[in-house]
Amino acid sequence: MTMDLAKDCYGFRCSDSSDFVNMDGCFVSKEILPFLNKLKDRLALDGFALRLESGYRPFDRQLSIWNRKASGELKLLDAQGNPMERPADEEQLMYAILTWSALPGASRHHLGSDLDVVDGNSCPEGYEVQLTPAECDGMFAPFHKNLSALMDAGEAFGFSRVFVPGRGKIQPEMWHIAHLPTSRKRLETFSLSKLRTIYEKTDIACKSALLDNLERLADDYIYPYFI
Ligand SMILES: [Zn+2]
Repeated sequence: MTMDLAKDCYGFRCSDSSDFVNMDGCFVSKEILPFLNKLKDRLALDGFALRLESGYRPFDRQLSIWNRKASGELKLLDAQGNPMERPADEEQLMYAILTWSALPGASRHHLGSDLDVVDGNSCPEGYEVQLTPAECDGMFAPFHKNLSALMDAGEAFGFSRVFVPGRGKIQPEMWHIAHLPTSRKRLETFSLSKLRTIYEKTDIACKSALLDNLERLADDYIYPYFI
């Protein structure tokens, strides 16, 4: 596996893959592994099988998602999760992508401390997980209820949800959890001016809209999640 971390502006660096382990086909930072295993074991006591759908994601991967959504190669979804028309206006297109996709360079998946999780035990054979609110209210509802109870009781080994209602402009994502003691350390090195320089040098869709609105975007889509 190759990982170009040169462009990650969270300042999280590793020279090779030795900082990660592969779990469920996802990259997990070794630093959070002991806590993740404890959480898995705790959930297993209640009959759940925590399974990863996403872990560490480098800049280039997020950039590829961003650019493919802009080009129409990947479908755009509205806030309700329904497919939507691709706006012709660059700024509107940027906001449409932001509904469900993080800014490249500022995705919490760059941190190595954040994961998208489901319950493998309640996932039907062959079902392709979408990571939608409907799944969290449906087949994964008992799993998330249990996980919420552990978090509320301070028994989730440092894991917490980040994208919750009333915080910032990113849609709530129940499936996204973060090991906060680890992410807090890694967020300290974030620099918006570095992100601006990266965008200036990168072939990124909606570039002028991003550069023109970067401070406001940070206030709505980045800083509220520095928790
Ligand atoms: Zn996520």
